Amino acid sequence: MRKVVIIGSGPAGLTAAIYTARANLEPLVLEGIQPGGQLTTTNEVENFPGFPEGITGPELMEQMRGQAQRFGATAEFKSATAVDFTTTPFKIEVDGTETVEAASVIIATGASAMYLGLESEQKLIGHGVSACATCDGFFFKGKELAVVGGGDSAVEEATFLTRFATKVTIVHRRDELRASKIMRARAEENPKVEFAWNSVVEEVLTETGNEVTGLKLRDVKTGETRVLPVGGLFLAIGHRPNTEVFKGRVELDEKGYIKPYKHSSTSVPGVFAAGDVVDTRYRQAITAAGMGCQAALDCEKWLEEKGIG
Ligand code: NAP
Repeated sequence: MRKVVIIGSGPAGLTAAIYTARANLEPLVLEGIQPGGQLTTTNEVENFPGFPEGITGPELMEQMRGQAQRFGATAEFKSATAVDFTTTPFKIEVDGTETVEAASVIIATGASAMYLGLESEQKLIGHGVSACATCDGFFFKGKELAVVGGGDSAVEEATFLTRFATKVTIVHRRDELRASKIMRARAEENPKVEFAWNSVVEEVLTETGNEVTGLKLRDVKTGETRVLPVGGLFLAIGHRPNTEVFKGRVELDEKGYIKPYKHSSTSVPGVFAAGDVVDTRYRQAITAAGMGCQAALDCEKWLEEKGIG
């Protein structure tokens, strides 16, 4: 039996791993299908304290992982495919094959990018439609692109994509960005960034079914439609929590986020949660790391009270 199993390996999971490892709890980290989490799809991280010159997302995560391993954490490139929190020790099915027993669990599975849900969009994912500019931007050299969304992600992705694209149009459903001032200014000052205000995508256009040739946009105020000719579409409309395996196992809110109980506890004593999977408000790498620390400390205390550890 493991004293602690941490599910997820973003800033929350790995910070929890550093703390529980330093408490000699020898945590097992199930890294999931995207080790390092969402930050590994981010290019430059400029707001994580301690890196005045910035650091790339993958580099930051590699350092956190190394730090956790240095104190005795085991990180495995495996996923939790089912959980049973009704008996103690808890049971975690891993990759659908093995079962790991755990005295306590820290859930830090984060969130994933959302798509519009249009049929034409779904068919073209990987063929001109993407939710990760840093992963796929390179493939769109010399093209005109569109980014849907009005938050920090949309602005960040659009600005990043101007490295490759000849023009990037931010398609936003309102006439005002949600993004922070500094990010907004960066996009507004970029001569390659344009805006399609009050606009929604009705259809992603293609000729061969293998590439994007344009977007059919609808003006939400006038109802008029027009075609925006672009060679690629990037989605930046937010994220959904990765809680599929925890449905009916711990209490979730109406949007699927884990419902916080006292401090980092969930509805199941001994199961804790940290980071974007529980955070509907801040969703920053640094806040996720802080929550990972809190979950580790709460978990440590809980184990101590149970005489484990
Ligand atoms: P977000 O702030 O929730 O913004 C999502 C955007 O997508 C909003 O503008 C929203 O429009 C739009 N949207 C949502 N659903 C849509 C739909 N179905 N169709 C069209 N548009 C839709 O998400 P985010 O930009 O991913 O940012 C999430 C968090 O991460 C924020 O706290 C943000 O500050 C943070 N973040 C920070 C940085 C940074 O500091 N470097 C970078 C990226 C993200 P409305 O505005 O009309 O609601």
